[in-house]
Amino acid sequence: MNCLEFRRLKLAEPRGLPHDALAHMSECATCRNFAAEINDNEERLAAALDVPVPEGLAERIILRRKTGTPVFAKASPRLWAMAATVVLTFAFGFQQWRDAGSQEYARLAIEHVMHEPESFTTARLADPQLFHTVMQNFGGEMQASLGKVRYMKLCPVPEGTGWHIVFETEQGELATLILIPAKRMTSQSEQATVGGWTALARPGGQGYYAVITSSPDTLDKVDELVRQRVRWRS
Ligand SMILES: [Zn+2]
Ligand SMILES: [Zn+2]
Repeated sequence: MNCLEFRRLKLAEPRGLPHDALAHMSECATCRNFAAEINDNEERLAAALDVPVPEGLAERIILRRKTGTPVFAKASPRLWAMAATVVLTFAFGFQQWRDAGSQEYARLAIEHVMHEPESFTTARLADPQLFHTVMQNFGGEMQASLGKVRYMKLCPVPEGTGWHIVFETEQGELATLILIPAKRMTSQSEQATVGGWTALARPGGQGYYAVITSSPDTLDKVDELVRQRVRWRS
């Protein structure tokens, strides 16, 4: 088990870690800290909402993982909007990526996408309203639709938890958008190409966002689209 796998498991099953995950945690201080902060975050969430939080992170409130059926339709909008905010504003440190050099943001975004191929084949939280709220909580005012949302997931990202979104543009092109709550990006943009994927990271909202596509042409178009249709508060 590596650190990335551990983080995925911990986010998905915070209280029910399998044996190999517990073994990894006992040997890895970074993941021990990560686990402790996830547990803290759940407690913060419970306190903020003043309701007992079901087992799991905020995402558990937003969706029902096992069935893939969104439960947010049943929960009050306030509840899940708040859950999303708490999770997004809470950043836990990820020491080994702290000193990431140039192009790391874009490259890490590509690696993230490569580790999650199901994001292109699975429909998950494909809800325009939820997308709108998540963007707003992150500091992005949507001026117009980016396209059809197909997949949304809270994922471990370099400095915390961020939303991983896959959408289809009006031209039928697939694009990934990752919202990362970290305040450290100083350049205007960073670009990377790895294994046929190309990504562009830009500062925006509570941190930065990365757009990832499978071709440089599409990247240019989607980057333009996001810049035209989202106004970022900072
Ligand atoms: Zn680890
Ligand atoms: Zn992801």
